[in-house]
Amino acid sequence: MKVLVVGGDFNLDGGRESGLIKKLYESISEEKKLFNGGYYQDLEKILLKVKDYDVVFWMANVDNDLPKIRNVKELAPHVMLVSSKRNDVDKYSFKDLTIHGISLKANLTFELKRQNDLFYIRVFDPLGVVWYEGFDIAEATSRSMARLKYLNSITRKKSYKSVDDPNLIMRWYFDPYAQEEYLAKDQPHFVIEDEYLQLIDKYAIIFHQMMGINLLEENSNRPPQVYRCAKSMPSKRFGKYAIVSKRCITHQFLEKGDFIPAYIENDKLYYCGDDKPSIDTPIHIKLYENLTHINYIIHSHNYIEDAIFTDKVIPCGAVEEVTEVLATIKHDKTLEEDKYFINLKGHGSLAMAKDLKDLENIKYIPRPMPEKMN
Ligand SMILES: [Zn+2]
Repeated sequence: MKVLVVGGDFNLDGGRESGLIKKLYESISEEKKLFNGGYYQDLEKILLKVKDYDVVFWMANVDNDLPKIRNVKELAPHVMLVSSKRNDVDKYSFKDLTIHGISLKANLTFELKRQNDLFYIRVFDPLGVVWYEGFDIAEATSRSMARLKYLNSITRKKSYKSVDDPNLIMRWYFDPYAQEEYLAKDQPHFVIEDEYLQLIDKYAIIFHQMMGINLLEENSNRPPQVYRCAKSMPSKRFGKYAIVSKRCITHQFLEKGDFIPAYIENDKLYYCGDDKPSIDTPIHIKLYENLTHINYIIHSHNYIEDAIFTDKVIPCGAVEEVTEVLATIKHDKTLEEDKYFINLKGHGSLAMAKDLKDLENIKYIPRPMPEKMN
């Protein structure tokens, strides 16, 4: 991995080096490059170089009266970003800090707090999992690099718009929910039951409460990802298809029109219509493939009381979650049950059931925030 570290003060007078950033840089054993302090104007030029790296520590300190330059992910979406936030007087709560990280799309964030001559460092990810806490910048950096290496190794499935199944697309296009007259009797009919939608609404309210998100704030300047994270990601099996929610839905509750069919063929993920499916889609499809009794899956970012835990902390949308979940189930019971409740360590949960009624009274509990990992 090629690593870029940008830190220290950047201002109109040429800036100032940071000792902490120097140590951070020295603790990285990969191919690397450092910009430690400098002219504010140079920061724009440095930003143009981020696309040439795999990992970018973007920790430049810029005077408050100058516009912030930090849109690393907009210029280089593939880059893994590590951001930082000074929190010397505990101005920000942990929730504020995670929201800051999410809004920058940072994979990890360093919270930095000066205490006498030392820096207290807390490294966490967008789901509030803490990967390091203490005063040792070398250790914080090496643990971050280990986590980034893992994140770099995971598989996210690209999705393709389905073109070879026009019937399916047309059926979908004519909105089978609202316009049944367009449907021939012998054609399959994608139904997301009202009862399922009501259940999803009920849990969405609980999830928002648990994550401390006030629905009345919905129009605030918080990044939409925060609200998306607080909703569940539900799906339903339909033959070889999974009916999944669309990606990037910003409104409060899911509606029938927010669901689309998706499927995997020759190891490629397809979706029907113009909207991309939720990033969890390949995981749900593969779980349906393996757990033949299961017809419904709800993924959330909260835990389920007394459910068994997976071992590894796997981020949202990584296909590795499937193997992890199946191994956890096998460890506990067989693969032919009618329902499974699984907690995904440092991430959330999966509730999977044959019948809708088995999903009715799930006891969700909030994930600890922060959630510390060894
Ligand atoms: Zn997730």
